[in-house]
Amino acid sequence: MAGEPLLETVAVSRTYGSRSRAVHALSRVSLRLWEGERLGVVGESGSGKSTLARILVALERPDQGEVRFQGRSVLSGRRQDLVSLRKGVQIIFQDPFGSLDPRLRVGQSVAEPLRALRVPGDHSRRVQQLLEAVGLPTGSERLYPHQLSGGQRQRVAIARALAPEPTALIADEAVSALDVSVRAQVLNLIADLVDRLGLSLIFISHDMAVIRHVCTRVLVLYRGEVVEEGPVDQIFEAPQHPYTAALIRSVPVLGGRIQDI
Ligand code: ADP
Ligand code: MG
Repeated sequence: MAGEPLLETVAVSRTYGSRSRAVHALSRVSLRLWEGERLGVVGESGSGKSTLARILVALERPDQGEVRFQGRSVLSGRRQDLVSLRKGVQIIFQDPFGSLDPRLRVGQSVAEPLRALRVPGDHSRRVQQLLEAVGLPTGSERLYPHQLSGGQRQRVAIARALAPEPTALIADEAVSALDVSVRAQVLNLIADLVDRLGLSLIFISHDMAVIRHVCTRVLVLYRGEVVEEGPVDQIFEAPQHPYTAALIRSVPVLGGRIQDI
């Protein structure tokens, strides 16, 4: 593809623990997200997906490697580059209880990134528009997180992520904790919003079926390494790595562990 990726990691590594008990969470992982693309990152629990997500949004630094947003390193320490990443790339986590402050009303939570990034204008109007865009009823802005269902809380987290008008969204197991009945609704909401707003998406999941539903290209992580990468349909039809084949076979067992590799 022409030009430069919107967001990328180059040979990123991250190790946790001491030298004697080191966990290599990521080993030389290179990822490229192109503008307007929906990239899936798939792997079983512990394969390094969330570590990669945190590194992509600079919540965490890699031990080695580079992270670039719009061609600029976000590890250089230049404030302006970090600010543009903070505004331009938003993340939605698995557990909206963890990402929403229980003491803040929904409206305050959604407005918070606007305040933090000093976005000018009428925030309350913008909050109304955002809550409507994620399908929450009028008046939701006055409620607290504990008064909402899991699906509604995740809608609030999505509204909050969209508030600063990002160019890219990272969803880390964003529907995995939801009841099966609402999972598809929230999944479709994310896909619709990404479409409508022309966003780029990194969709992280242990579930190949979900990835196939949302993404065009997928990167397979196994024990912190990229073992396979390519168009979703191609990888579904002809997986090259036994781990990918096992992930695909495990598709009907939603949330199940892979035992046969
Ligand atoms: P995933 O999101 O795919 O389940 P993670 O990125 O959460 O994988 O974890 C990858 C590996 O790194 C796991 O072995 C996990 O236990 C370890 N790990 C992740 N975060 C930390 C941390 N803060 N401290 C120590 N080990 C960690
Ligand atoms: Mg994770």
